[in-house]
Amino acid sequence: MGGTFDPPHLGHLAAATAARTKLFLDSVVFVPANEPWQKTSQSPAADRLAMTRLAVQGHDGFEVSDVDLTRGGPTYTVDTLTDLHAEYGPHAQLYLLLGADAVANLMSWHRALELPLLAKLIALSRPGHALEIPTEFADTIEVVSIEALDISSTMCRELLQSGRSADQWVRENVLTYAADAGLYSTVRG
Ligand code: ATP
Ligand code: MG
Repeated sequence: MGGTFDPPHLGHLAAATAARTKLFLDSVVFVPANEPWQKTSQSPAADRLAMTRLAVQGHDGFEVSDVDLTRGGPTYTVDTLTDLHAEYGPHAQLYLLLGADAVANLMSWHRALELPLLAKLIALSRPGHALEIPTEFADTIEVVSIEALDISSTMCRELLQSGRSADQWVRENVLTYAADAGLYSTVRG
């Protein structure tokens, strides 16, 4: 599961848990993007990586990979999957877990049509986002319906920036890190 993870929230963890159970995955690898080139601004990659590590701390079957930060530059998932293949060996079957919003935009991704050659593409339901499979992926995306949570990082950032609590949606250790690092600091009028 790639993403910006700015910050990682319980919606990411719930979706990953459901996908892992339904697909019998050995583990879910969370891969924070180095430069999410389709977004305008975000917290430093090192902070997003650290928060993602804290978010999965103590969870069985969850890992965090720093391949995108190590490679550097703008993050393209074709490169992420290539690097993960190199790391996990020729016998590993990779699955690319995508929320419904990511699925809808897939044709805008760099070398998108190569993705099914590198991993099994999985479309996960997400509240507020219709599950629409681009026709190019009609035969290569598997839909896995899950009980997803209606949470986004955008919502969490907005709560924190307006001085409200995000305790319900973000793990305490992640919130402590974010506060210490001065991320999402309160905007005072
Ligand atoms: P932002 O609001 O900043 O875009 P986000 O909540 O969408 O943040 P991302 O890091 O962009 O989080 O998402 C990474 C991946 O996780 C994407 O494939 C996205 O669709 C999926 N995802 C995020 N939140 C959920 C959720 N609540 N349920 C299901 N999938 C989710
Ligand atoms: Mg998003």
